[in-house]
Amino acid sequence: MKGLYVHIPFCESICHYCDFVKRVPSHQESIDRYLDALVKEIALYKKHFDSIDTIYIGGGTPSMLSVKQLTKVFEALKDIKPIEYSIEVNPESYSEEKGMLMKTYGINRVSLGVQTFNQELLHYLNRKHTNKQVYEVVDHLKACEIERISVDLIFAIPGQTIKDLDQDLKHIKSLDITHVSSYSLILEEKTYFYHQYLKGNFEQMDEDLEALMYEKVIKDLDDFGFKQYEISNFCKHNHESLHNKIYWTLDPYIGVGLGAHGFIDGYRTYNERSMQAYIDHYQKEKVYQTSDMLIQDALIFGLRNTKGIEIEKIEKAFNIDLFKRYPKLEEKMNYGLLEINHGYLKLTKKGTLLGNQVFMVFI
Ligand code: SF4
Repeated sequence: MKGLYVHIPFCESICHYCDFVKRVPSHQESIDRYLDALVKEIALYKKHFDSIDTIYIGGGTPSMLSVKQLTKVFEALKDIKPIEYSIEVNPESYSEEKGMLMKTYGINRVSLGVQTFNQELLHYLNRKHTNKQVYEVVDHLKACEIERISVDLIFAIPGQTIKDLDQDLKHIKSLDITHVSSYSLILEEKTYFYHQYLKGNFEQMDEDLEALMYEKVIKDLDDFGFKQYEISNFCKHNHESLHNKIYWTLDPYIGVGLGAHGFIDGYRTYNERSMQAYIDHYQKEKVYQTSDMLIQDALIFGLRNTKGIEIEKIEKAFNIDLFKRYPKLEEKMNYGLLEINHGYLKLTKKGTLLGNQVFMVFI
């Protein structure tokens, strides 16, 4: 499998928790200038087009591009025939015309930035859509026969209650979608919330309540027919995100656009994060991945998957004895955070809640 990630770094406003590479464009011309550079960068990878299985257009907010601008991006990618073709959409910037355009260019999966259905909490996060818009977008995507719809959900928002989360999950059920990505709110540096935190105006949710919320997300989604296949990802009908699986299994992928990164020919590539530097020469650096780096990634990403890691396979691939190299794994097993099942090392239910304690073993 090989993937292509395309970054659209523009948003209509900035969410208070967001540390992605994004900006509010000063005018349409700045978007056009960026897209000119992006299209040229995409063309640099033409020789890989035949082997690309997944495209993921993320951001930022790709759906805030105009129909003309979206067409320009889709045209640059039209010679690729991926199995999975995803785009991120924010409900407030979707239109029926954009949905039909996506369908025309072969997009078969949409990731919808919802985060919560509670209007007060949405306002607190500085997000602008309404629940009505979410339902309308999902209905229209289905009418366009884009059936693979994922919704992003955030929990552990300060002030959020279990009852609020319960309402969010009920909405997820009634939307009748195929995939959910659910993350707890993380306080990241260089965000509005972080500045509030430094001023004493932001208090993170109590860890016990956060754990209760995560357990509720897992249980309710399971009740609604979603299988958890990764710490933060759940799907129906085996509609796992193929593109994300490429990241987790260390398969190669190309990253294009501002601040995008890739993994190709044994190198991690990092694009420039400043707009002018990106337009001038795209890439900032590429770093060869030593076997130590790859083992670490393979183990952490592997354990995030509910299936776990196949011990024999990983030992052969990296020529290691897993438990000799990481003796602390025994300790984590004794604490009930890890278990071995049919040759796979995997997180237990308790380990899923405390994943970071396990991942520290590899760092
Ligand atoms: S819409 Fe997405 S990328 Fe833009 S600020 Fe909000 S979270 Fe960040």
